[in-house]
Amino acid sequence: MVSRRRTVYEGKAKTLFEGPEPGTLVQYFKDDATAFNNQKKGVITGKGVLNNRISEYLMLRLGEIGVPTHFVRRLNMREQLIREVEIVPIEVVVRNIAAGSLAQRFKLEEGSLLPRSIVEYYYKSDELGDPLVSEEHITAFGWATYQELDEILNLTLRINDFLCGLFIGVGLKLVDLKLEYGRLWEEDEMRLVLADEISPDNCRLWDSRTNERLDKDRFRRDLGKVEEGYQEIARRLGILPEAGRGDLRGPDTMQ
Ligand code: UDP
Repeated sequence: MVSRRRTVYEGKAKTLFEGPEPGTLVQYFKDDATAFNNQKKGVITGKGVLNNRISEYLMLRLGEIGVPTHFVRRLNMREQLIREVEIVPIEVVVRNIAAGSLAQRFKLEEGSLLPRSIVEYYYKSDELGDPLVSEEHITAFGWATYQELDEILNLTLRINDFLCGLFIGVGLKLVDLKLEYGRLWEEDEMRLVLADEISPDNCRLWDSRTNERLDKDRFRRDLGKVEEGYQEIARRLGILPEAGRGDLRGPDTMQ
């Protein structure tokens, strides 16, 4: 890939390029998918185009209810302009229904409703395999302050409540989701904003009626029809790019 702009960060599913103005970045969504701490790798054709749209849509809806986000605007099929932030090195997972690692750890039946939403923190480290950590670890090791954690928890519960309702409205259950936050400096003030992406790569979304999985679990568990799952989510949100599959590959502006 020949890039015209400086790469700031190359992740598994996204690349960040230098933005047009200071304090901005361009977030490019790839079709690459990984699971199980990088042990499983693959390509989900059209995923980047769909995740760009889905994340744009959800960040805009959250912005409308007053949740601060890094999102500025979508630039094209695979790219969006975002504010440059300092990422808090914590993956915040919020769960409504037992699935994945929680179901395994506590031998819960996948699909059982949790007594209340449960928030967990994982330290972002590929080397350590993103270990589950407590608030004590986070504050003692200085990954975030008590005040920041308090704000992160409040924002996370608010985001989760709002998204649960939004998805129920289109026949989907939000089983769990992973959020990331960043620090944004404006003059001398620092504030936390929602960063990264919200897409079927980092949420579990099941059909409300049949419990069919429409998210990245289709890839993780080799359930087939992976692209179709992502497309179905976009379709229900009313944001499926027109013109069908060919369009999903999109103009690859970096090439
Ligand atoms: N998740 C994520 N990135 C990770 C790990 C988990 O986005 O590195 C998301 C995952 O898609 C799911 C939620 O966080 O929506 C909870 O994941 P879980 O702990 O059950 O782990 P998994 O079963 O995905 O390994």
